[in-house]
Amino acid sequence: MPPLVDPVPGGSPGDLARAHALAHELSAQGVRGIVLAYVDTAGICRVKTVPWQGLQPTVAWGVGMSPVFDTFLANDAIVRTDVLGSPDGDLRLYPDLDRLVVLAGQPGWAWAPVDRLTQEGDPHPGCSRTFLRRIVTSAEDRHGVTFRAGVEIEWVLGRAAAPADEFVPATSGPAYGAARQIELSDYAADLLGALEKQEVPVAQFHPEYAPGQFELSTGALDPVAAADQSVLVRQTIRAVSQKHGLRASFAPAVAERGVGNGGHLHLSLWRHGVNLHAGGDRRYGMTAAAESFISGLLTHLPALTAVTAPSPASYLRLKPSQWAGVFTAWGRETRETGVRVITGTAGHQSQDANLELKPVDLAANPYLALGCAIAAGLDGLASAASLPEEVTDDPARLIPDEAVARGVRRLPTSLPQAVEEFRADEVLRTALGPVLADAVIAVREGETGAVAGLDDAGVAAAYRWKY
Ligand code: GLU
Ligand code: MG
Repeated sequence: MPPLVDPVPGGSPGDLARAHALAHELSAQGVRGIVLAYVDTAGICRVKTVPWQGLQPTVAWGVGMSPVFDTFLANDAIVRTDVLGSPDGDLRLYPDLDRLVVLAGQPGWAWAPVDRLTQEGDPHPGCSRTFLRRIVTSAEDRHGVTFRAGVEIEWVLGRAAAPADEFVPATSGPAYGAARQIELSDYAADLLGALEKQEVPVAQFHPEYAPGQFELSTGALDPVAAADQSVLVRQTIRAVSQKHGLRASFAPAVAERGVGNGGHLHLSLWRHGVNLHAGGDRRYGMTAAAESFISGLLTHLPALTAVTAPSPASYLRLKPSQWAGVFTAWGRETRETGVRVITGTAGHQSQDANLELKPVDLAANPYLALGCAIAAGLDGLASAASLPEEVTDDPARLIPDEAVARGVRRLPTSLPQAVEEFRADEVLRTALGPVLADAVIAVREGETGAVAGLDDAGVAAAYRWKY
Protein backbone atom coordinates (compact mmCIF):
# COMPACT_ATOMS: atom_id res chain seq x y z
CA MET A 1 0.00 0.00 0.00
CA PRO A 2 1.37 3.46 -0.84
CA PRO A 3 2.38 5.55 2.18
CA LEU A 4 -0.37 7.64 3.78
CA VAL A 5 0.35 11.31 3.33
CA ASP A 6 -1.34 14.54 4.41
CA PRO A 7 -3.34 16.31 3.14
CA VAL A 8 -5.72 13.63 1.87
CA PRO A 9 -8.64 14.14 -0.51
CA GLY A 10 -11.38 13.96 2.09
CA GLY A 11 -9.71 15.34 5.15
CA SER A 12 -7.58 18.12 6.47
CA PRO A 13 -3.91 18.13 7.39
CA GLY A 14 -3.35 16.15 10.57
CA ASP A 15 -6.37 13.90 10.07
CA LEU A 16 -4.27 10.78 9.54
CA ALA A 17 -2.42 11.07 12.84
CA ARG A 18 -5.70 11.94 14.52
CA ALA A 19 -7.46 8.93 13.00
CA HIS A 20 -4.65 6.64 14.14
CA ALA A 21 -4.89 7.83 17.76
CA LEU A 22 -8.69 7.90 17.68
CA ALA A 23 -8.97 4.35 16.35
CA HIS A 24 -6.94 3.01 19.27
CA GLU A 25 -8.99 5.03 21.75
CA LEU A 26 -12.19 3.67 20.20
CA SER A 27 -10.90 0.12 20.41
CA ALA A 28 -10.00 0.62 24.08
CA GLN A 29 -13.59 1.75 24.66
CA GLY A 30 -14.91 -1.48 23.12
CA VAL A 31 -15.78 -0.08 19.70
CA ARG A 32 -15.51 -2.80 17.05
CA GLY A 33 -16.95 -0.98 14.03
CA ILE A 34 -17.66 2.50 12.68
CA VAL A 35 -20.89 3.37 10.86
CA LEU A 36 -20.32 5.75 7.93
CA ALA A 37 -23.64 7.47 7.28
CA TYR A 38 -25.20 9.76 4.71
CA VAL A 39 -28.73 10.58 3.61
CA ASP A 40 -29.86 9.97 0.03
CA THR A 41 -32.15 12.11 -2.13
CA ALA A 42 -35.20 10.12 -1.03
CA GLY A 43 -34.40 10.84 2.63
CA ILE A 44 -33.16 7.38 3.56
CA CYS A 45 -30.00 7.14 5.65
CA ARG A 46 -27.61 4.74 3.89
CA VAL A 47 -24.50 3.35 5.53
CA LYS A 48 -21.33 1.37 5.13
CA THR A 49 -19.23 0.26 8.07
CA VAL A 50 -15.56 -0.43 8.68
CA PRO A 51 -13.87 -2.16 11.63
CA TRP A 52 -12.02 0.17 13.99
CA GLN A 53 -8.69 -0.74 12.37
CA GLY A 54 -10.09 0.65 9.12
CA LEU A 55 -10.51 4.20 10.38
CA GLN A 56 -7.10 5.49 9.36
CA PRO A 57 -7.14 4.01 5.83
CA THR A 58 -10.71 5.29 5.44
CA VAL A 59 -9.64 8.79 6.35
CA ALA A 60 -6.80 8.48 3.83
CA TRP A 61 -8.53 6.79 0.91
CA GLY A 62 -12.23 6.79 1.68
CA VAL A 63 -14.55 3.81 1.37
CA GLY A 64 -16.21 2.99 -1.94
CA MET A 65 -19.93 3.35 -2.53
CA SER A 66 -21.82 3.61 -5.79
CA PRO A 67 -23.39 6.94 -6.81
CA VAL A 68 -26.48 4.97 -7.80
CA PHE A 69 -27.93 5.54 -4.30
CA ASP A 70 -28.56 9.18 -5.27
CA THR A 71 -31.50 7.96 -7.33
CA PHE A 72 -32.76 5.21 -5.04
CA LEU A 73 -36.38 5.48 -3.92
CA ALA A 74 -37.51 4.77 -0.38
CA ASN A 75 -38.48 1.25 -1.52
CA ASP A 76 -34.96 0.70 -3.01
CA ALA A 77 -36.16 0.86 -6.63
CA ILE A 78 -33.79 2.89 -8.83
CA VAL A 79 -34.66 5.75 -11.18
CA ARG A 80 -32.35 7.63 -13.54
CA THR A 81 -31.30 11.13 -14.52
CA ASP A 82 -28.95 12.14 -17.32
CA VAL A 83 -25.96 11.50 -15.08
CA LEU A 84 -27.14 9.42 -12.13
CA GLY A 85 -28.69 6.01 -11.67
CA SER A 86 -26.41 3.97 -13.88
CA PRO A 87 -24.54 0.96 -12.49
CA ASP A 88 -21.20 2.59 -13.41
CA GLY A 89 -18.79 4.58 -11.29
CA ASP A 90 -17.75 4.78 -7.69
CA LEU A 91 -17.50 7.39 -4.97
CA ARG A 92 -15.42 7.57 -1.80
CA LEU A 93 -16.99 8.12 1.61
CA TYR A 94 -14.84 10.24 3.96
CA PRO A 95 -15.86 10.37 7.63
CA ASP A 96 -15.89 13.73 9.40
CA LEU A 97 -13.72 13.08 12.45
CA ASP A 98 -15.08 16.17 14.21
CA ARG A 99 -18.49 14.53 14.30
CA LEU A 100 -17.45 10.96 15.15
CA VAL A 101 -19.42 9.66 18.14
CA VAL A 102 -19.41 6.42 20.13
CA LEU A 103 -22.97 5.11 19.92
CA ALA A 104 -24.35 4.60 23.40
CA GLY A 105 -27.48 2.89 22.06
CA GLN A 106 -25.44 0.37 20.02
CA PRO A 107 -22.58 -0.97 22.14
CA GLY A 108 -19.54 -1.81 20.00
CA TRP A 109 -20.25 0.86 17.41
CA ALA A 110 -19.19 4.39 16.61
CA TRP A 111 -20.80 6.62 14.00
CA ALA A 112 -19.69 9.41 11.69
CA PRO A 113 -21.34 11.39 8.90
CA VAL A 114 -19.47 11.35 5.60
CA ASP A 115 -18.72 13.61 2.69
CA ARG A 116 -18.78 11.92 -0.66
CA LEU A 117 -15.96 12.62 -3.11
CA THR A 118 -15.07 11.30 -6.53
CA GLN A 119 -12.16 8.90 -6.93
CA GLU A 120 -10.17 11.93 -8.14
CA GLY A 121 -10.79 13.70 -4.84
CA ASP A 122 -13.31 16.25 -6.12
CA PRO A 123 -16.57 16.94 -4.26
CA HIS A 124 -19.37 14.76 -5.65
CA PRO A 125 -22.03 17.12 -7.09
CA GLY A 126 -24.73 14.86 -5.62
CA CYS A 127 -23.37 15.05 -2.04
CA SER A 128 -26.02 16.83 0.01
CA ARG A 129 -23.68 17.47 2.95
CA THR A 130 -21.21 19.20 0.63
CA PHE A 131 -24.12 21.18 -0.86
CA LEU A 132 -25.21 22.49 2.54
CA ARG A 133 -21.64 23.43 3.46
CA ARG A 134 -21.30 25.29 0.15
CA ILE A 135 -24.53 27.26 0.78
CA VAL A 136 -23.46 28.19 4.31
CA THR A 137 -19.97 29.22 3.19
CA SER A 138 -21.25 31.35 0.36
CA ALA A 139 -23.81 33.03 2.68
CA GLU A 140 -20.93 34.14 4.85
CA ASP A 141 -18.74 35.21 1.91
CA ARG A 142 -21.47 37.04 -0.02
CA HIS A 143 -23.78 38.33 2.70
CA GLY A 144 -21.66 38.25 5.84
CA VAL A 145 -24.23 36.11 7.65
CA THR A 146 -24.00 32.87 9.61
CA PHE A 147 -26.74 30.59 10.92
CA ARG A 148 -27.80 28.58 13.90
CA ALA A 149 -30.13 25.71 13.18
CA GLY A 150 -32.00 22.85 14.76
CA VAL A 151 -34.23 20.02 13.54
CA GLU A 152 -37.10 18.93 15.78
CA ILE A 153 -37.65 15.20 15.82
CA GLU A 154 -41.13 13.70 16.12
CA TRP A 155 -41.75 9.98 16.00
CA VAL A 156 -44.36 7.42 16.88
CA LEU A 157 -43.65 4.24 18.76
CA GLY A 158 -45.33 1.03 17.78
CA ARG A 159 -45.03 -2.41 19.30
CA ALA A 160 -42.26 -4.31 17.50
CA ALA A 161 -44.29 -7.52 17.87
CA ALA A 162 -47.30 -6.12 15.94
CA PRO A 163 -48.30 -8.41 13.05
CA ALA A 164 -47.71 -7.66 9.38
CA ASP A 165 -46.14 -4.22 9.66
CA GLU A 166 -49.22 -2.83 11.36
CA PHE A 167 -48.98 0.14 13.69
CA VAL A 168 -50.04 -0.71 17.23
CA PRO A 169 -49.29 2.34 19.40
CA ALA A 170 -46.90 1.50 22.22
CA THR A 171 -48.69 3.82 24.64
CA SER A 172 -52.29 4.54 25.45
CA GLY A 173 -51.91 7.75 27.47
CA PRO A 174 -53.28 11.06 26.19
CA ALA A 175 -51.38 13.74 24.26
CA TYR A 176 -48.84 15.45 26.50
CA GLY A 177 -50.17 13.10 29.18
CA ALA A 178 -48.22 12.11 32.26
CA ALA A 179 -49.57 8.59 31.76
CA ARG A 180 -47.65 8.26 28.50
CA GLN A 181 -44.42 9.43 30.08
CA ILE A 182 -44.90 6.96 32.96
CA GLU A 183 -45.75 4.04 30.65
CA LEU A 184 -42.46 4.51 28.80
CA SER A 185 -40.44 5.82 31.72
CA ASP A 186 -37.54 3.32 31.39
CA TYR A 187 -37.37 3.76 27.64
CA ALA A 188 -37.32 7.54 27.92
CA ALA A 189 -34.61 7.50 30.58
CA ASP A 190 -32.47 5.13 28.46
CA LEU A 191 -32.90 7.40 25.47
CA LEU A 192 -31.92 10.53 27.39
CA GLY A 193 -28.98 8.64 28.89
CA ALA A 194 -27.75 7.49 25.47
CA LEU A 195 -27.98 11.01 24.06
CA GLU A 196 -26.17 12.43 27.07
CA LYS A 197 -23.31 9.95 26.59
CA GLN A 198 -23.15 11.05 22.96
CA GLU A 199 -22.98 14.68 24.10
CA VAL A 200 -26.19 15.58 22.27
CA PRO A 201 -27.66 18.55 24.18
CA VAL A 202 -31.34 17.68 24.51
CA ALA A 203 -33.54 20.74 25.03
CA GLN A 204 -36.87 18.97 25.56
CA PHE A 205 -38.52 15.57 25.31
CA HIS A 206 -42.28 15.12 25.55
CA PRO A 207 -45.27 12.95 24.66
CA GLU A 208 -46.83 14.51 21.53
CA TYR A 209 -50.34 14.65 20.11
CA ALA A 210 -50.80 11.58 17.90
CA PRO A 211 -51.15 8.03 19.29
CA GLY A 212 -47.77 6.73 20.44
CA GLN A 213 -46.06 9.99 19.43
CA PHE A 214 -43.07 11.67 21.11
CA GLU A 215 -40.91 14.67 20.32
CA LEU A 216 -37.34 15.60 21.09
CA SER A 217 -35.57 18.86 20.39
CA THR A 218 -31.88 19.69 20.66
CA GLY A 219 -29.78 22.84 20.97
CA ALA A 220 -28.95 25.01 17.97
CA LEU A 221 -25.76 24.39 15.98
CA ASP A 222 -24.28 25.48 12.68
CA PRO A 223 -26.46 24.04 9.88
CA VAL A 224 -24.21 21.14 8.83
CA ALA A 225 -23.76 20.03 12.44
CA ALA A 226 -27.51 20.41 13.03
CA ALA A 227 -28.28 18.15 10.07
CA ASP A 228 -25.65 15.62 11.27
CA GLN A 229 -27.17 15.72 14.72
CA SER A 230 -30.68 15.02 13.45
CA VAL A 231 -29.40 11.89 11.68
CA LEU A 232 -27.52 10.77 14.80
CA VAL A 233 -30.53 11.36 17.06
CA ARG A 234 -32.72 9.22 14.80
CA GLN A 235 -30.11 6.44 14.74
CA THR A 236 -30.12 6.55 18.55
CA ILE A 237 -33.92 6.61 18.88
CA ARG A 238 -34.22 3.60 16.56
CA ALA A 239 -31.61 1.60 18.46
CA VAL A 240 -32.97 2.36 21.94
CA SER A 241 -36.54 1.70 20.77
CA GLN A 242 -35.58 -1.70 19.41
CA LYS A 243 -33.99 -2.67 22.72
CA HIS A 244 -37.29 -1.94 24.43
CA GLY A 245 -39.37 -4.05 22.02
CA LEU A 246 -40.57 -0.92 20.26
CA ARG A 247 -40.49 0.20 16.66
CA ALA A 248 -39.92 3.86 15.85
CA SER A 249 -41.37 5.53 12.80
CA PHE A 250 -40.35 8.98 11.62
CA ALA A 251 -42.71 8.73 8.61
CA PRO A 252 -44.71 11.89 7.88
CA ALA A 253 -47.95 9.93 8.29
CA VAL A 254 -48.07 6.63 10.07
CA ALA A 255 -51.83 6.46 9.58
CA GLU A 256 -53.78 7.96 6.70
CA ARG A 257 -55.59 10.46 8.91
CA GLY A 258 -54.66 12.77 11.76
CA VAL A 259 -51.62 14.68 12.91
CA GLY A 260 -48.35 13.37 11.51
CA ASN A 261 -44.66 13.46 12.37
CA GLY A 262 -43.04 16.80 11.65
CA GLY A 263 -39.38 17.70 11.40
CA HIS A 264 -39.68 21.45 11.89
CA LEU A 265 -36.54 23.43 11.12
CA HIS A 266 -35.38 26.23 13.38
CA LEU A 267 -33.11 28.83 11.86
CA SER A 268 -31.64 32.11 12.95
CA LEU A 269 -29.53 34.51 10.98
CA TRP A 270 -26.49 36.14 12.65
CA ARG A 271 -24.04 38.88 11.68
CA HIS A 272 -20.86 39.62 13.64
CA GLY A 273 -22.11 37.46 16.50
CA VAL A 274 -25.46 39.29 16.73
CA ASN A 275 -28.80 37.55 16.26
CA LEU A 276 -30.69 39.40 13.52
CA HIS A 277 -34.07 38.15 14.82
CA ALA A 278 -33.85 40.27 17.97
CA GLY A 279 -33.06 43.85 18.91
CA GLY A 280 -34.08 45.24 15.50
CA ASP A 281 -36.53 48.00 14.64
CA ARG A 282 -39.01 45.83 12.73
CA ARG A 283 -41.93 43.71 13.92
CA TYR A 284 -41.30 41.76 17.11
CA GLY A 285 -37.75 43.09 17.26
CA MET A 286 -36.69 41.58 13.96
CA THR A 287 -34.12 43.40 11.85
CA ALA A 288 -34.80 44.29 8.22
CA ALA A 289 -32.48 41.42 7.24
CA ALA A 290 -34.48 38.85 9.22
CA GLU A 291 -37.74 40.10 7.71
CA SER A 292 -36.35 39.90 4.18
CA PHE A 293 -35.00 36.41 4.86
CA ILE A 294 -38.46 35.23 6.00
CA SER A 295 -40.03 36.91 2.98
CA GLY A 296 -37.70 34.92 0.70
CA LEU A 297 -38.64 31.72 2.49
CA LEU A 298 -42.35 32.38 2.01
CA THR A 299 -41.90 33.21 -1.69
CA HIS A 300 -40.11 29.94 -2.38
CA LEU A 301 -42.10 27.80 0.05
CA PRO A 302 -44.37 26.08 -2.52
CA ALA A 303 -41.29 24.90 -4.47
CA LEU A 304 -39.33 24.17 -1.32
CA THR A 305 -42.05 21.70 -0.37
CA ALA A 306 -40.63 19.27 -2.97
CA VAL A 307 -37.50 19.14 -0.79
CA THR A 308 -38.95 19.49 2.72
CA ALA A 309 -41.95 17.20 2.17
CA PRO A 310 -40.52 14.70 -0.31
CA SER A 311 -42.72 11.65 0.13
CA PRO A 312 -46.21 10.87 -1.14
CA ALA A 313 -46.95 10.28 2.56
CA SER A 314 -45.86 13.88 3.31
CA TYR A 315 -49.13 15.09 1.79
CA LEU A 316 -51.22 13.06 4.23
CA ARG A 317 -49.60 15.17 6.95
CA LEU A 318 -49.55 18.52 5.12
CA LYS A 319 -53.15 19.49 5.80
CA PRO A 320 -54.70 22.56 7.42
CA SER A 321 -55.36 22.48 11.15
CA GLN A 322 -52.75 19.76 11.81
CA TRP A 323 -49.98 22.18 12.93
CA ALA A 324 -48.01 21.43 9.80
CA GLY A 325 -48.08 25.05 8.55
CA VAL A 326 -49.47 24.63 5.04
CA PHE A 327 -49.83 28.30 4.09
CA THR A 328 -47.32 30.84 2.78
CA ALA A 329 -47.78 33.09 5.80
CA TRP A 330 -46.02 33.95 9.01
CA GLY A 331 -47.15 34.79 12.51
CA ARG A 332 -45.69 35.16 15.96
CA GLU A 333 -46.02 31.82 17.71
CA THR A 334 -48.62 30.79 15.13
CA ARG A 335 -48.65 27.05 14.58
CA GLU A 336 -50.67 27.06 11.36
CA THR A 337 -48.51 29.39 9.26
CA GLY A 338 -45.59 28.04 7.23
CA VAL A 339 -43.23 30.20 9.26
CA ARG A 340 -43.66 30.69 12.99
CA VAL A 341 -41.75 33.65 14.35
CA ILE A 342 -40.29 32.90 17.77
CA THR A 343 -39.17 35.88 19.82
CA GLY A 344 -37.96 33.99 22.89
CA THR A 345 -38.56 34.89 26.50
CA ALA A 346 -38.06 38.45 27.68
CA GLY A 347 -34.44 38.82 28.70
CA HIS A 348 -33.19 35.99 26.49
CA GLN A 349 -34.34 37.10 23.03
CA SER A 350 -30.88 37.88 21.73
CA GLN A 351 -30.03 34.19 22.10
CA ASP A 352 -33.37 32.53 21.46
CA ALA A 353 -35.20 34.47 18.75
CA ASN A 354 -35.47 32.43 15.57
CA LEU A 355 -37.85 31.23 12.91
CA GLU A 356 -39.50 27.85 12.71
CA LEU A 357 -40.25 26.37 9.31
CA LYS A 358 -43.14 23.96 9.77
CA PRO A 359 -43.93 22.25 6.45
CA VAL A 360 -40.90 19.99 6.86
CA ASP A 361 -40.98 16.32 7.76
CA LEU A 362 -38.38 13.67 8.51
CA ALA A 363 -38.60 12.04 5.11
CA ALA A 364 -36.66 15.12 4.02
CA ASN A 365 -32.90 14.90 3.63
CA PRO A 366 -31.95 17.44 6.33
CA TYR A 367 -28.93 18.71 4.39
CA LEU A 368 -31.04 19.43 1.30
CA ALA A 369 -33.87 20.90 3.39
CA LEU A 370 -31.63 23.27 5.34
CA GLY A 371 -29.57 24.22 2.28
CA CYS A 372 -32.63 25.00 0.15
CA ALA A 373 -34.37 26.86 3.00
CA ILE A 374 -31.27 29.01 3.43
CA ALA A 375 -30.99 29.61 -0.32
CA ALA A 376 -34.66 30.71 -0.37
CA GLY A 377 -34.16 33.08 2.54
CA LEU A 378 -30.96 34.52 1.06
CA ASP A 379 -32.84 35.32 -2.13
CA GLY A 380 -35.17 37.50 -0.04
CA LEU A 381 -32.20 39.03 1.78
CA ALA A 382 -30.38 39.86 -1.48
CA SER A 383 -33.40 41.76 -2.83
CA ALA A 384 -34.29 43.36 0.54
CA ALA A 385 -37.75 41.80 0.07
CA SER A 386 -40.49 43.22 2.27
CA LEU A 387 -42.39 40.90 4.55
CA PRO A 388 -46.19 40.90 4.21
CA GLU A 389 -48.56 41.43 7.12
CA GLU A 390 -48.65 38.86 9.88
CA VAL A 391 -51.44 36.27 9.86
CA THR A 392 -52.86 35.33 13.21
CA ASP A 393 -55.16 32.41 14.03
CA ASP A 394 -55.69 29.63 11.46
CA PRO A 395 -55.10 30.85 7.88
CA ALA A 396 -57.56 28.15 6.80
CA ARG A 397 -60.25 30.51 8.12
CA LEU A 398 -59.38 33.28 5.64
CA ILE A 399 -61.96 33.57 2.89
CA PRO A 400 -60.34 32.93 -0.52
CA ASP A 401 -60.44 36.58 -1.68
CA GLU A 402 -58.82 37.74 1.53
CA ALA A 403 -56.12 35.06 1.24
CA VAL A 404 -55.31 36.17 -2.32
CA ALA A 405 -55.23 39.83 -1.28
CA ARG A 406 -52.79 39.03 1.51
CA GLY A 407 -50.60 36.78 -0.62
CA VAL A 408 -51.47 33.70 1.41
CA ARG A 409 -51.20 30.55 -0.70
CA ARG A 410 -52.02 26.99 0.25
CA LEU A 411 -48.92 24.83 -0.21
CA PRO A 412 -49.01 21.98 -2.74
CA THR A 413 -51.48 19.28 -1.82
CA SER A 414 -49.61 16.50 -3.62
CA LEU A 415 -46.05 15.55 -4.52
CA PRO A 416 -46.60 16.10 -8.28
CA GLN A 417 -47.84 19.65 -7.53
CA ALA A 418 -44.75 20.31 -5.42
CA VAL A 419 -42.50 19.03 -8.21
CA GLU A 420 -44.22 21.38 -10.67
CA GLU A 421 -43.46 24.32 -8.37
CA PHE A 422 -39.88 23.11 -7.90
CA ARG A 423 -39.30 22.81 -11.66
CA ALA A 424 -40.34 26.45 -12.05
CA ASP A 425 -38.09 27.71 -9.24
CA GLU A 426 -34.80 28.89 -10.74
CA VAL A 427 -33.40 29.98 -7.39
CA LEU A 428 -33.69 26.58 -5.72
CA ARG A 429 -32.56 24.66 -8.80
CA THR A 430 -29.56 26.93 -9.28
CA ALA A 431 -28.61 26.63 -5.61
CA LEU A 432 -28.71 22.83 -5.82
CA GLY A 433 -26.91 22.64 -9.15
CA PRO A 434 -28.17 20.53 -12.06
CA VAL A 435 -27.09 17.13 -10.70
CA LEU A 436 -28.92 17.45 -7.37
CA ALA A 437 -31.90 19.33 -8.83
CA ASP A 438 -32.44 16.62 -11.45
CA ALA A 439 -32.06 13.93 -8.78
CA VAL A 440 -34.74 15.62 -6.67
CA ILE A 441 -37.16 15.71 -9.62
CA ALA A 442 -36.44 12.13 -10.73
CA VAL A 443 -36.73 10.68 -7.23
CA ARG A 444 -39.97 12.56 -6.47
CA GLU A 445 -41.45 11.39 -9.78
CA GLY A 446 -40.31 7.88 -8.96
CA GLU A 447 -42.01 8.00 -5.55
CA THR A 448 -45.19 9.27 -7.22
CA GLY A 449 -45.09 6.35 -9.66
CA ALA A 450 -44.44 3.90 -6.83
CA VAL A 451 -47.78 4.71 -5.17
CA ALA A 452 -49.89 4.90 -8.34
CA GLY A 453 -53.27 3.34 -7.63
CA LEU A 454 -52.87 3.29 -3.85
CA ASP A 455 -55.45 4.96 -1.62
CA ASP A 456 -54.39 7.06 1.39
CA ALA A 457 -54.25 4.04 3.68
CA GLY A 458 -52.05 2.27 1.14
CA VAL A 459 -49.70 5.27 0.88
CA ALA A 460 -49.37 5.50 4.68
CA ALA A 461 -48.67 1.75 4.88
CA ALA A 462 -46.12 1.88 2.03
CA TYR A 463 -43.92 4.40 3.87
CA ARG A 464 -44.83 3.63 7.50
CA TRP A 465 -41.53 1.99 8.40
CA LYS A 466 -39.29 3.44 5.68
CA TYR A 467 -38.14 6.58 7.50
N1 GLU B 1 -46.93 16.96 14.63
C1 GLU B 1 -47.08 18.26 14.04
C2 GLU B 1 -46.52 18.23 12.63
O1 GLU B 1 -46.77 17.34 11.92
C3 GLU B 1 -46.41 19.34 14.87
C4 GLU B 1 -46.91 19.50 16.27
C5 GLU B 1 -46.18 20.65 16.95
O2 GLU B 1 -46.56 21.80 16.76
O3 GLU B 1 -45.15 20.38 17.56
O4 GLU B 1 -45.81 19.10 12.20
MG1 MG C 1 -44.29 18.86 18.08
